[in-house]
Amino acid sequence: MTRNPHDEARELIALGDGLSDPQQVWLRAHLDECEACRHYAEAAGRVVRALRSQPLAADSRLVRATQMRVRFHASRLRETRERLWLVGMACLGVGLSATLTVPFLWRLFAWLGDWAGVSSWIWQAGFAFLWIAPALVVSALLLARGTHLTSNGEKQWR
Ligand SMILES: [Zn+2]
Repeated sequence: MTRNPHDEARELIALGDGLSDPQQVWLRAHLDECEACRHYAEAAGRVVRALRSQPLAADSRLVRATQMRVRFHASRLRETRERLWLVGMACLGVGLSATLTVPFLWRLFAWLGDWAGVSSWIWQAGFAFLWIAPALVVSALLLARGTHLTSNGEKQWR
């Protein structure tokens, strides 16, 4: 079987570093006398170098993307924590003010109901509405403010 020496040379070039000493000697001798295979070897070398530099570039891109994702996740966690804290404070404030004002308001409504001469369920319904409505408004305001604050802080932090 006769093999084309150029095919043989290109096969050896494709093998790259894994050549035996006699193969390297033969290949070098062939490249010295054959311009076509020399060009092929140079092109192959360029491809190999390009392939070797590629994973590095992809790695740094991947690292940057991962860092950004981690940072984004951390800020999301922080934001959620801050919002939960604000919700907790809002609930606490509403609960506290309700506890302090309910007995007073209840007596005031009872007195007003008595003074106006309406049946007790009317002033009791009015009391319930007036007691719930501010709590709802306050918690809604605090929540909106909380979202606003955290989105502002986010901009400054970046
Ligand atoms: Zn050749």
